[in-house]
Amino acid sequence: MLTAEKVKIAALEAGADLCGIGSMDRFDENVPKEMNPKFLFPEAKSIIGMAFRIPRGVQRGIEEGTQFYQYPSMAYGGINEIYAPSVLYHVGKVIENEGYEAMLYRNTGARGVVSDMDGSLGNTLSPEEQIEISERAKTETAHHRTVQFTRPAREDSVAPDLQFHFRLAAVACGLGEMGWSKMFLTPQFGPLQRLAFIFTDAPLEPDPLYDGPPLCRRCMACVRQCPGGCLSDKESIKVSVGGKECEWGKLDEWKCYAFYTHGGRYYNPFVPKEVFDKNEDGALDVLEGKAEADEVQIMNVYTALSKYFPSWVGYNMAKCGGCIRACVSMLERKGSCMEGRFKEPLRTGKPWQL
Ligand code: SF4
Ligand code: SF4
Repeated sequence: MLTAEKVKIAALEAGADLCGIGSMDRFDENVPKEMNPKFLFPEAKSIIGMAFRIPRGVQRGIEEGTQFYQYPSMAYGGINEIYAPSVLYHVGKVIENEGYEAMLYRNTGARGVVSDMDGSLGNTLSPEEQIEISERAKTETAHHRTVQFTRPAREDSVAPDLQFHFRLAAVACGLGEMGWSKMFLTPQFGPLQRLAFIFTDAPLEPDPLYDGPPLCRRCMACVRQCPGGCLSDKESIKVSVGGKECEWGKLDEWKCYAFYTHGGRYYNPFVPKEVFDKNEDGALDVLEGKAEADEVQIMNVYTALSKYFPSWVGYNMAKCGGCIRACVSMLERKGSCMEGRFKEPLRTGKPWQL
């Protein structure tokens, strides 16, 4: 007999670090239709959420300013593309061996009806992939962060590909809470994990939603240590998942897109200072705080700076991680979920700045 316990044991044995189960009725009418996972598999009764820890040490090179490749390749691409899918595959087999269906859903991006950047419908460009297409494939065809010409395959359904909100789905599985930084926090790993899911028609016993002590300290270290000032310390977004209130700071996602990958003049050792000083054709205006971030401006940034870090891993090359490291450092020192996990803290001195 397939039980929640059996699924969790299979997930942990296969390599997930956490596994929680939610019931599909936690996605109520307030979830935007285009992002409501109920439409994915209408007969699904349960959602199984798995968290895969990000080793703290893959951020060490960025923390020291010595190695930037390991975090995006190992802990972003590696977990999302290789490690988590193999665990999903294994757990899916365990479920289907019992006669239930397992709809596997690995982490992906830029394939939905709405933009994974800001939730907007329609054409939203994907700058780094556009550069790849223009320079290597020699075509001008735009790559978008949404699928542009999609339409519902059934009258009462939504257009494919449906992408749902991973972090809120993890809340629905009882794994943890949203932090002010918009990162998902768990009692076990703070902000250091990635997520993957299975939807199944198996009626599994759901876990309660997390209702322990608050995991986010509302310390605003993530706001202060964002090089682009992308996170508001006042404005917030509030939603309810299965009756649980979730709140996080308003994030300028497009600005984060620029700073996360390119860091800006104080946090990108790969770009000569003169390039920032010259700011040819105003291409770096967003990074220099002289323009609002929109698709066109972000395209300019990516086009101007792509040659300074040419190899990529299918994922943006992270040069930031400021909010994650600030959060880990704060939670280790002040407590709520990461204290005592490591013998030595992530950060022992002042963070570097060029
Ligand atoms: S990833 Fe970097 S740029 Fe984006 S919000 Fe976090 S600190 Fe700011
Ligand atoms: S840095 Fe502080 S405010 Fe930001 S997510 Fe972490 S605990 Fe919350």
